[in-house]
Amino acid sequence: MIAVLSGGTGTPKLLWGLKEIYDDFFVVVNTAEDVWVSGNKICPDIDSVIYALSESIDTETWWGIADDTFTTHERLKSLGFDEGMRIGDLDRATHILRSELLRKGKSLLQAIRILKNSFGIKQEIFPMCNEEVSTLIETNEGLMHFQNFWVGRKGEPEVSKIIFNGIEKARMPEEVKDLLKQCDSVVIGPSNPITSIGPIISVKGYVEVLKRKRVVAVSPIIGNKPVSGPAAKFMRALGYEVSPAGVAEVYRDFIDVLVIDERDADYEIEFAEVTKTDTIMKEKGDAVRLANFLLDIL
Ligand code: GDP
Repeated sequence: MIAVLSGGTGTPKLLWGLKEIYDDFFVVVNTAEDVWVSGNKICPDIDSVIYALSESIDTETWWGIADDTFTTHERLKSLGFDEGMRIGDLDRATHILRSELLRKGKSLLQAIRILKNSFGIKQEIFPMCNEEVSTLIETNEGLMHFQNFWVGRKGEPEVSKIIFNGIEKARMPEEVKDLLKQCDSVVIGPSNPITSIGPIISVKGYVEVLKRKRVVAVSPIIGNKPVSGPAAKFMRALGYEVSPAGVAEVYRDFIDVLVIDERDADYEIEFAEVTKTDTIMKEKGDAVRLANFLLDIL
């Protein structure tokens, strides 16, 4: 069995391919970007994983449901309330169901299990923890939630610090502990190392487990740029080089193999094996090819 650590764009793309050729895996997902909007809890990374594994994701944007409509969002706007985030009607149904389950006393893990079963997904999808953790970005415009920084302010402010608010109280769920015990290998997909994988490995217990596993990570950085998103800004702010080597540095304590893109220069890393392939996933075939490459390594 393979454990996959995921954020909300790069790794869901990989999972979209992996599920075509292999089914003995489970996913542990970042929840530090979760936010309550219009009365409902949105778990952007969890939902992208659910939508990717159930073939419902919008593969243009890599968030939300394909061919969704935005009637409720637009109606709210015309009534004078801007949600700050464009939420699709079908996507909103996911948020409503999850929030109702939470309001009825289910844990986040239980609510996600019910949801992913409704989407017909066989594999387990776990939140990194049940407790609420929020990524806050300290910027030249003040402290803001990750979603305000990325969606509201389009990632423009200067970043000086990243805080995972609530992380001290976060615990690895027992269900994750049990399954991690049973697997030998962990794949860290091409996700933002700071704000997607960073919160997971900051929850007490994950690093200790990862040190005992064979860990293969795919770099989300090609050359000195991420394929998408704010990873470069965050890596720079924390003093990491924006390069595949910088990504490996974030994972230094537990990484065994770093997969970099074939467009990258050859180089060596003293604490990990480096291997190259085409890591750009535009279509299903690309994701299947990368998943196959990872299975060969494992
Ligand atoms: P977020 O929660 O939306 O930030 O999603 P992730 O952290 O899972 O994914 C964002 C990261 O995925 C970015 O740093 C991108 O560079 C990377 N990424 C997205 N698509 C690809 C791809 O096709 N190949 C590679 N190598 N990285 C990708």
